[in-house]
Amino acid sequence: MKNTSEFDLIDKITKACLIKPGNVIKAIGDDAAAFCTDSGKIILVTTDLLVERVHFLAESVSGFDLGQKALAVNLSDIAAMGGVAHHAFVSIAIPEKYETHYIENIYKGIKALAKKFKVNILGGDTTGSKSDLVINIAVTGFADKDAILFRSDAKKGDKIYSTGFLGDSKAGLYLILNKIPVDSKEWKALWDAHIMPRPYLEEGRFLAKQKGVHAAIDVSDGLSSDLGHIIKQSRKGAKIYRGNIPVSDNLKKFCRYFNKNPLEFALSGGEDYTLLVTIDKNMAQYVEKAYREKFGKPLFFMGEITGSGAMELIYENGKSRIITPSGWDHFEKRQG
Ligand code: ADP
Ligand code: MG
Repeated sequence: MKNTSEFDLIDKITKACLIKPGNVIKAIGDDAAAFCTDSGKIILVTTDLLVERVHFLAESVSGFDLGQKALAVNLSDIAAMGGVAHHAFVSIAIPEKYETHYIENIYKGIKALAKKFKVNILGGDTTGSKSDLVINIAVTGFADKDAILFRSDAKKGDKIYSTGFLGDSKAGLYLILNKIPVDSKEWKALWDAHIMPRPYLEEGRFLAKQKGVHAAIDVSDGLSSDLGHIIKQSRKGAKIYRGNIPVSDNLKKFCRYFNKNPLEFALSGGEDYTLLVTIDKNMAQYVEKAYREKFGKPLFFMGEITGSGAMELIYENGKSRIITPSGWDHFEKRQG
């Protein structure tokens, strides 16, 4: 689209969308919409679109993997709200050139992940397409009133964490786009991070129930972009310590080998689908410990929420620079 970023367009669209605000808890702007039923339960709804040549190359991904990913990215949005996923609706626009078995494999992938995360597939829509394959999945879920996480609730002084490594997915995409053989366990792990992101549903729900966990988002567009959403909506700033950004050994090896900058991958690589959470500084140590005990893995501490309104990267020598959201913008042309 000309002259407008994806996020500016969403801002424009948002005006006059709320006709009956009554039961709406969260309208456009978060990972999922949230609204109350008359019985007081909170329902979550999220939807994501995957478009051939924009999000995937059909010749580089099996139908099964594509189906899994299409559902995983939606489950990740429910995870970012601290919710439980319930039901999925799958809509698909299929160009004539596609073989039936590829489409059946997409559904095998969707069903495999749906089974793993106990989600029903309750409907959808099917249509033809002139050129590209398009898959849209919508997922519903629920959340508890006192255990739901929004992007807008970060508080000054909160510590910022990620539930996993950042940048691996972009490295996996680089391998795919450049047709580099996945012939080592390190390259395979990066490939997996891109093709089979894992939704942090159990972790999101656990975190939402902990006292002191304030805000969350899933990293779909890159750390700088997604942390940018948290600070914009919370009207805060953030400091990120460069030395603390969780970069996997696999990504470090990849960057040495292909002469890339791991920091750039971690800050602006999208589709990691880890959760970014902000936690009250006085509760953070307790939550870190409880999380490690429950899941046998760490929450990665990265920085702090500030009142500055800006996002700062703090280097090991104490110097700093302002970073701007540089993650994935769907209307920006860029190379993997
Ligand atoms: P995510 O990456 O978590 O899926 P997005 O950046 O896609 O989030 O969307 C941010 C918010 O904007 C969400 O609340 C989403 O529902 C809303 N949104 C995105 N596109 C549209 C659209 N075309 N019309 C209305 N709402 C939209
Ligand atoms: Mg999201």
